[in-house]
Amino acid sequence: MEENDDFNTRRDLSMCPDHVIIGSGINALVAGAMLSLKGDRVLLLEREEVPGGCLRTEEITLPGFRHDVMAATWVLFMTSPAGAALGPHLARHGFDYCHTPHPTAVLRPDGQALVLTTDRAKNIAAFDALAAGDGAAHASDVGGVEADAPFLFALLGGALWSWPTVKLMWGQVRKRGLRGLAAWFGRALVPARGWLETTYASPLVQALYAPWVLHCGLTPESTYSGQMGKVIAFALEAAGAPIVKGGSGAGVAAFRALIEAKGGEIRCGADVDRILVREGKVRGVALASGEEIACASVLASVAPGQLQERLLRDANLPEDKAAAKAFRHGRGNFQLHYALDRPPEWLASGLDDVALIHLADGIDSVSKSANEAERGMLPATPTICVGQPHRLDPSRCPEGKAILWLQIPDAPRAVKGDAAGQITTDGSWSEATRDAFADRIEGILKQHIRDFDAIKLARRAYSPADLEAMNANLVGGDPYGGLCTIDQFFLFRPYPHSTNGRGLVRGLIHIGASTHPGPGLGGGSGFLAAKRLGA
Ligand SMILES: Cc1cc2nc3c(=O)[nH]c(=O)nc-3n(C[C@H](O)[C@H](O)[C@H](O)COP(=O)(O)OP(=O)(O)OC[C@H]3O[C@@H](n4cnc5c(N)ncnc54)[C@H](O)[C@@H]3O)c2cc1C
Repeated sequence: MEENDDFNTRRDLSMCPDHVIIGSGINALVAGAMLSLKGDRVLLLEREEVPGGCLRTEEITLPGFRHDVMAATWVLFMTSPAGAALGPHLARHGFDYCHTPHPTAVLRPDGQALVLTTDRAKNIAAFDALAAGDGAAHASDVGGVEADAPFLFALLGGALWSWPTVKLMWGQVRKRGLRGLAAWFGRALVPARGWLETTYASPLVQALYAPWVLHCGLTPESTYSGQMGKVIAFALEAAGAPIVKGGSGAGVAAFRALIEAKGGEIRCGADVDRILVREGKVRGVALASGEEIACASVLASVAPGQLQERLLRDANLPEDKAAAKAFRHGRGNFQLHYALDRPPEWLASGLDDVALIHLADGIDSVSKSANEAERGMLPATPTICVGQPHRLDPSRCPEGKAILWLQIPDAPRAVKGDAAGQITTDGSWSEATRDAFADRIEGILKQHIRDFDAIKLARRAYSPADLEAMNANLVGGDPYGGLCTIDQFFLFRPYPHSTNGRGLVRGLIHIGASTHPGPGLGGGSGFLAAKRLGA
């Protein structure tokens, strides 16, 4: 391995943090909090002026209207091992959730809507009313996830390249037989289209779940997206779609208070330019400002490209560098935020207190918009997810007013054209393209809300390029740290040869959405790294 010969930093490790953590997104915060609670001194270095990565709450439309600019729904954290371990500690620093009994719904272009509740019996009755047998199918789907939970969640969240996983597999062979286990995996690999078309007769039930696979960085045709759809159905029904009181930024503030109370630090405006390596071991980091910080342990929450091409540019790691070049990012994400003069009056009934409403026709529309975005086209009819945070947490805006959080998970990374042939594009996410695409989304939204133009006070749009400008890990505006298809997931995330985020540099652990167990607010890679370090 090539070394950093110019390494010339303080050697007295007693003066140095036990761990430097690059970034301050959820995985960095989880690792930082867990290691702080263990008694280690952590230093989180964040290049932006605000901590949190995808977790920001800001007045981006009008004064008094506080929007979660990016991530908003914390169900993955609430139900994760990290959430269980840190929940009580964070609560002491003001962290709290806001809930609704109606986590999600779908609203089709013809105005038909279906709401999922947190009550299984009600969901079974509602699905059966649409098509006899769909209720039983739902009970079987979510019941199956429940029955397999220890195995399934160990695969989805555990350290896979490990003896516990081997033991887990052996236990499953004994329980199901080798053929039975192979069949279990066969069923788990079914795409969402196959799952939904063969399980549910009602197009409305199919439409309820089809858009959710997009939130896993997949499409209805992706291998294993059916299993992910079932896991999401189970999680939403069991735990809802909670948001953090005061916004995701308030969640970050609670993490920060916890870390600081234990002697740790989060430094913003600190862009790490290089990980210092000598004799195959981590010795510290160098900031873009020239400052060097010595430490024997670094956790890097960055995308593979930045890790290999920038931070480890001097290290001789040919296999990792080749794998990072071959790593693919997923479709871009588009965000649209509204400040409204009063809560939206949905033309369809039952949607007033739903946390997340998808505007989508069904499997085909979701598939079409994903495919258009994948090919670099602005989708003609994008799949839209509408959040209503003010209904769960009235503190987000002045009394009587409202905010909407719109996520469009299918936007092109680089714009090649418009699938509808209406928007003139110049190959980039220019302001004109962003605003024209936002107009398209608004055109769909306002068909479903009474007098939308009259209640709209302000709007703010973020293209994939805008998101990347706020968080370098969102390469091309990909919200999930890299495509989540099976060749880049589980054992193979981020590289086919990865072993639990560890590589050839001793003392360095790669964490973040690009690593196993992938994206979302579960904080899984930060949790696993902290556990490996003795937390
Ligand atoms: C718009 C949007 C909406 C989403 N909504 C949800 C949701 O509602 N629920 C959900 O579960 N998931 C959601 N996700 C996904 C989820 O937010 C992400 O997968 C997750 O937050 C990523 O966390 P992370 O730990 O990888 O770090 P990130 O949040 O990506 O943060 C990484 C941080 O590292 C910093 N950094 C990078 N390089 C350096 C460097 N060299 N030096 C110093 N700092 C550096 C960046 O500035 C950034 O702050 C959403 C994502 C997006 C983009």
